[in-house]
Amino acid sequence: MKRLVLVAVALGILFTGTLAHANKLEEIKARGTLICGVKDSTVPFGYVDETSKQLVGFDVDICKYIADAMGVGLELKAVTSASRIPMVLQGSVDIAAATMTHKIERDDVIDFSITYFMDGQKLLVPVDSGIKSVADLKGKRVATVKGSTSEKNIREAQPDCTVLSFDEYPQAMLAMKQGKAVAVTTDSTILLGLRGSDPEPSKWEILPDAISIEPYGLGIVENESKFRDFINKTLMEMWRSGEYKTTYDKWFGPETRFYLPLTWTMELWP
Ligand code: GLU
Repeated sequence: MKRLVLVAVALGILFTGTLAHANKLEEIKARGTLICGVKDSTVPFGYVDETSKQLVGFDVDICKYIADAMGVGLELKAVTSASRIPMVLQGSVDIAAATMTHKIERDDVIDFSITYFMDGQKLLVPVDSGIKSVADLKGKRVATVKGSTSEKNIREAQPDCTVLSFDEYPQAMLAMKQGKAVAVTTDSTILLGLRGSDPEPSKWEILPDAISIEPYGLGIVENESKFRDFINKTLMEMWRSGEYKTTYDKWFGPETRFYLPLTWTMELWP
């Protein structure tokens, strides 16, 4: 009898536990707030605006659009390249909208939305450095960020360089400016952001060759298909309505300091 009761209790816990976590979408709606993890020092994706002191950027606007579509408020939490996946796993953010490339190995741990941004990894170097490609980094130090694909890709592309990994990209930029590294490497728009935020942008150049393809996805916890469907449908709706293009041009259009031609098309389900 005692055993039967124990089994019943265990089943009960299992059942309520399953119910309680059955639907992240409903949980967020009931809470009334979508919690998004964004970068706070990665221009122009997520950074603190000097005048308003608010977190702004392309990833922030993507989060706002999704929160509005859900009919809830938005709370932003700062994440780094290294902390974003653990924060999704812990449930401290509902979505990581944080310049995160959708990698198959990352998909083993969390789930991703469809691609909402496309970039590639490049090198930022001083104009007079003489460095023209990855081959020239042999025996040299290169700065990037911990937990990024940039860190891994550069090691593969140039096994004979030393990779200095920092928490944030501005620290990597500083290392290059102090002569501790000959280049900064990451996605080209982040490099444009670093260059454009520098008091003397003309001192730095982005080399044309891309080391990798970096399709960004929004990171969410695994096995929440209703939530993921909602995010994907919202991204597609944003693209179809033209709002994506407006937001894209606001941050990456020809009028900006971070111009990246929109050369790819979002996967649109009919
Ligand atoms: N998109 C790359 C990544 O997901 C590099 C940018 C970043 O560190 O967030 O790792």
